[in-house]
Amino acid sequence: MGSLARVGVLGGTFDPIHLGHLAAASEVCARLGLDQVLLTPAHSQPFKQGIDTASPEHRLAMCELAAAEDERFGVSPVDIERGGVTFTVDTLTDLRAQRPDAELFFITGADALARLDEWKDAHRLAELATFVGVTRPGHSLEESEWPHILVEAPALAISSTDVRRRTRVGLPIRYLVPRSVADYIAANGLYYGGLDD
Ligand code: NAP
Repeated sequence: MGSLARVGVLGGTFDPIHLGHLAAASEVCARLGLDQVLLTPAHSQPFKQGIDTASPEHRLAMCELAAAEDERFGVSPVDIERGGVTFTVDTLTDLRAQRPDAELFFITGADALARLDEWKDAHRLAELATFVGVTRPGHSLEESEWPHILVEAPALAISSTDVRRRTRVGLPIRYLVPRSVADYIAANGLYYGGLDD
């Protein structure tokens, strides 16, 4: 029998996906010797309830455009297809069922590791995946009791909030998001209408 595939799972709202996300995924992939990283857009992030986002279909489409540029990246629609609030325990349970031959690594901003006990079925998360916290130079890190691996990502001061704001006021987002994603945002008129941040 061959060894288990090592699959990273980068969950996010991805409204929109940007080069900071992709650089972090790339770094974790290289440092941990992963076979693939699945960009996994959330249908609705539990801690962002009541916040308007671009539709799940638009956010998924932008992830697919971004992933198409790197053979190490894939996209899983598992959270969008399930719908409702996206709890990571469900993401990982569904991915495990789809890929019984894989060892899963859930990639998240390192700050989230300090609050994992607030996540649904937190005790089960560590059974389903190894947690990988992405640190960014200049960010202070809270202590976490949870078993995890830390990986330092390149310092790209890019946020989805800033990409949306720049789009709204007509500043360029090229070089902050993949070209195909910038084109998609323009073609679909996303974020011009003034989504609340
Ligand atoms: P997001 O804002 O869309 O970003 C996705 C990931 O990329 C986050 O881990 C984020 O870390 C990281 N990131 C953003 N900008 C970056 C940059 N410039 N450089 C490096 N990394 C960067 O993510 P989100 O909306 O918070 O969602 C995160 C995931 O956690 C989702 O899958 C969500 O469903 C899940 N979650 C689950 C629960 C639960 O199960 N109860 C609760 C909360 C979240 P930062 O957050 O540090 O920016």
